[in-house]
Amino acid sequence: MADIIYTFEGHVYLNITNACPCKCEFCIRNNGDSVGDAETLWFTGHSPSLDEIKSEIDSFDFSPYSDEIVFCGYGEPTCAYGNLISSAKYLKEKMPECKLRINTNGLSDLLNKKSTADEICSVFDIVSISLNAPTSEKYIELCHPSFGDRAYPAILKFAEECASHKDVVTKFSVVDVISPEDIKECKKIAEEIGVPLRVRNYTAE
Ligand code: SF4
Repeated sequence: MADIIYTFEGHVYLNITNACPCKCEFCIRNNGDSVGDAETLWFTGHSPSLDEIKSEIDSFDFSPYSDEIVFCGYGEPTCAYGNLISSAKYLKEKMPECKLRINTNGLSDLLNKKSTADEICSVFDIVSISLNAPTSEKYIELCHPSFGDRAYPAILKFAEECASHKDVVTKFSVVDVISPEDIKECKKIAEEIGVPLRVRNYTAE
C-alpha cells in the first residue's frame, strides 16, 4: 500500500488516488515513485477506501503541520471525489482550526459529471487550480487531457465558480516550462477571473 499521508518540505499531504485524466509533460510522477518522506505514492491493487484514509488520519501526528493540510499526491484528488469530500470533512471535524487546501487540475466537473465547486468550497479553505496554459490548444499539447477540448473551458468555469466563494482562497498555478509570453497571457486570464497566479518552478529531481 502506498503512503496516504506524506510530508515534504515542512508540509503535510494526503495522497488519495493515482487516477488522473491528464498526462502532463511536467508531471512529477514521471520522475520517481515518491516525494518527501513517502516510500511510494503508487497504490497497488486498489485505491484507498475511506476507512483506510480515516485510519491513516487517526494514526498520524498532525501537530507539527497543524496550520495547513494539502490534498495532493500521485493523482488528481477529485478523481476520488466521495473520499475527498468525506475525508476533508473528517479532518475539519478533528481539527477545525486547520486550513485545508486542494491542489487540483480543475477538471472535477467533467470527472464527476456535475458541478462540484460549491461542495469543494464548502470544505476547503484554499483551492489551487493548475491553469498550465493560456489557450485550450496549448493546454492539450502540454497536459493531454482525456477530455480533449472540453477540458480548458471546464477549468475556467470551475475557477470562476470557486472564486465566487469569497471565504475561499482560489489560486491558479502554472509551471515555468511554458514561455514567458504564455505566462503573461495566463496572468491576464487569472486577472480577468480575479484570482492570483503562482508560477511554479519545474524540478525534474
Ligand atoms: S494533472 Fe497533476 S497528476 Fe495529473 S498528469 Fe498533470 S501534473 Fe500529473
